[in-house]
Amino acid sequence: MTTRPDVIPVTTQPQEPGPAGAEPPPELLGTRGGEHKRSLEQIALLLFICLPFLALLAAVPLAWGRGLSLLDVGLMVGMYFLTCHGVTVGFHRYFTHGSFKANRPLRVALAIAGSLAVEGPIVRWVADHRRHHKFSDAEGDPHSPWRYGETLPALLKGLFWAHMGWLFDEEQTPQHKYAPDLIKDPAIRRISRDFWFWTMLSLVLPPVVGGLVTMSWYGAFTAFFWGSLVRVALLHHVTWSINSICHAVGKRPFKSRDRSGNVWWLAVLSCGESWHNLHHADPTSARHGVLRGQVDSSARIIRWFEQAGWAHDVRWPDADRIAARRAPDNPAEVVGKEAA
Ligand SMILES: [Zn+2]
Ligand SMILES: [Zn+2]
Repeated sequence: MTTRPDVIPVTTQPQEPGPAGAEPPPELLGTRGGEHKRSLEQIALLLFICLPFLALLAAVPLAWGRGLSLLDVGLMVGMYFLTCHGVTVGFHRYFTHGSFKANRPLRVALAIAGSLAVEGPIVRWVADHRRHHKFSDAEGDPHSPWRYGETLPALLKGLFWAHMGWLFDEEQTPQHKYAPDLIKDPAIRRISRDFWFWTMLSLVLPPVVGGLVTMSWYGAFTAFFWGSLVRVALLHHVTWSINSICHAVGKRPFKSRDRSGNVWWLAVLSCGESWHNLHHADPTSARHGVLRGQVDSSARIIRWFEQAGWAHDVRWPDADRIAARRAPDNPAEVVGKEAA
């Protein structure tokens, strides 16, 4: 068996020309503000988190008794799963962990689909996530719920930090150290730097479709509410739950050096990412739900990409590899590449 790193290259050397040990110039980074979040960016981030969340809170009474058009539901569900898989298949399994290789059009499409999830520029997302794996639940992890200790008040505080508090941390993960492979790809760097454009597109697309189909401003408004605001809020909270809930509770059938757990009730909404204990035990595996009955729609989509010839060298789990990682007294019945 060959050894595989947890993540693709983490290097201590700068990738672009410049004095040894120095950061590359800002134009060569994947975010416009360089590696520091400016206060304007902090305020924008706060708005992007609060507004969809308020919409989510308002959603229930608004929908009550008035019905919800099929078009709105379709836009919400369609945009949700398109962008969720953009993050899970694209940002996470492909760009962060290299669990398969993609042809050029698929690589670019995955970067764009993930950017439409409004979870930050791809280069920052990947750099943060690689740092999470490097230090998982130890000093240096950007979002561990165990940051403040093991007592209940400390855990509650830590859960909030892991869920969303960490997003406001001024300390940024150095991109040239954690994502050199992405910032040296001009197309990916461009997609990352144009994050504001993908955010606008993601929010504008549903109302444009809703308005055109119903030929009314009201149709555009409800499509914006459900397909843009509620959808973004829901996906944010599901994604953040992987960092908070899946590092605090859940079953741990596999050996990992952190507190990651498998949380079954998040499996469908998280597109298979809540089988998080297996993911930390075997980070490059293209399938996270490796046991019988564990739904993993991201693995299914990677399989379709493979069958279409767009993806290759997919790292499917095999029985020996999984068996070597299982915790004592947890026999694992492994699912291969065929199951959904
Ligand atoms: Zn994790
Ligand atoms: Zn990961």
